Amino acid sequence: MAANLSAAQVIRVLLVGLAYYAGAWLGVTQTITPEGISILWPPNAVLLSAFLLSPYRQWPLLGVAALIAECIADVPTFPLWAAVAFGLTNLFEVSLAAWLICRAVGNGFDFDRLKRGAYFLLYGPLLASSLAALFGAAVYVLLGRNDSSFLSLWRLWWFGDALGLLLLTPLIVVLWRWLDKGLPRFNWPKLLEIAAGWLLLVLVGINTFPQGVQGELGFHLTPIVLLPFSVWAAVRFGIRGAAMTVTIIAVMAIGFMVRGIHPYSGLDPQLGVWLMQEYLAVVAALSIGLAILLHEIKTQSSELERRVSERSEALQRSKDALEIANARLNELASTDYLTGIANRRYFHDIAQRELARLAGGGGTVSLIMFDLDHFKQVNDRFGHETGDRVLNDVVNAVQQTVRPMDLFGRFGGEEFLILLPDTPQAIALEVAERIRKKIEAMQSEHHGHSIRVTVSLGVVEWNGNASLDALIRSADHALLQAKESGRNRVQLASEVS
Ligand code: GH3
Ligand code: MG
Ligand code: MG
Repeated sequence: MAANLSAAQVIRVLLVGLAYYAGAWLGVTQTITPEGISILWPPNAVLLSAFLLSPYRQWPLLGVAALIAECIADVPTFPLWAAVAFGLTNLFEVSLAAWLICRAVGNGFDFDRLKRGAYFLLYGPLLASSLAALFGAAVYVLLGRNDSSFLSLWRLWWFGDALGLLLLTPLIVVLWRWLDKGLPRFNWPKLLEIAAGWLLLVLVGINTFPQGVQGELGFHLTPIVLLPFSVWAAVRFGIRGAAMTVTIIAVMAIGFMVRGIHPYSGLDPQLGVWLMQEYLAVVAALSIGLAILLHEIKTQSSELERRVSERSEALQRSKDALEIANARLNELASTDYLTGIANRRYFHDIAQRELARLAGGGGTVSLIMFDLDHFKQVNDRFGHETGDRVLNDVVNAVQQTVRPMDLFGRFGGEEFLILLPDTPQAIALEVAERIRKKIEAMQSEHHGHSIRVTVSLGVVEWNGNASLDALIRSADHALLQAKESGRNRVQLASEVS
């Protein structure tokens, strides 16, 4: 097993052992009132934090380190069996709390959600500590300590452990997580603010904790006046700020109390300790709970913002797609599926608009209508598919002949229309003749066949007021004449009917 351990893990285990020992030393020597009453027990918070920050498989080794540290710390005062029993009791407490917490909220614990904070409070200071206290009190009874009842020994153990967990676990966990992300970048204005706040806190604390029933300043201060400091820290500096500020308050409170200085000095010593424990527990739970709540609200609202912006981006994307689809739909509705030029309806709309624009304005417009000659035979000989290709070839050839401003459309079947703006009939006749020649000269190569077609064309010039339908009828009439007079020719319409 040891061979699988990395150097970092060994250091971690040693660190936890050392920190546990330091906590136990503090608990045994620095948090005991002159009457011998223990105020809080810090090392369990060290071990619980280590468990919550480590994967399950590292728990046994961390536990062994803590057990050894406990024995070393206890042996000068207690027999070895009692030291081992105390160590096992603490190990039981921490393992139970850590296991229940991880079971409820998953591994990778942090004080970042109210739910996690609540489970910590329930399973750590409330449940595991009170259960372990039964064993701790039993060991005291076995040690022959009969100055207090089992129940008061149990309460003593429980409150001390619970307060230690409550005050120090959040501090260690959030500081560890913070430092684990790399060295923090300091924000000087905030650093100044917190330094000033803590200085003021210490000044107020020094004048608050020693106050007995009669305050020296003439007015009565109780430690509750320090609560605003931890609330300020929670609001301004989050969970880390709250945990550190609560620790400063606890250090002051306990530091004075172990010297016999505290606002409850007129009372029974045990009652004084309970009141102080109660005070510290409420300040810690309130401030750290508030910081967690604020953190949760902040992450939820930024999550909400993220989702809203994600949604609006998705909306924008579908709007873009819709616009593209609409444009495509318009194109489809206006183009002839086979040849890609204007379909009959679109031709009609645009041509009508053009005539309306020029009506009475003296503009010249001509119209060419053409039809493939004997096209039925092409279909009959080569099949419809080849016929389609020939139609496309004809359209391409015509497109190369007309100007971009000319409107070229498929009227139906193999009949086409070309509207030529700003074009008198003489020019339109030239265009028609050019088309005729071009088609006549064209060879369509398909499936090994070389196909030649001709077209007949009717040309008409608009008289400035005839309707589009009348204009088309005239062109059609001219086209018919071209057919009748032998096909593959251009015929000018005699007049617009
Ligand atoms: P003409 O116009 O010279 O009098 O003779 P025609 O053989 O072309 O006669 P008509 O105009 O009456 O016939 C049109 C033929 O064009 C009938 C049809 O088979 C063919 N046609 C119409 N539309 C299409 C098409 O989209 N694809 C193919 N392949 N053929 C078409
Ligand atoms: Mg035809
Ligand atoms: Mg036809």
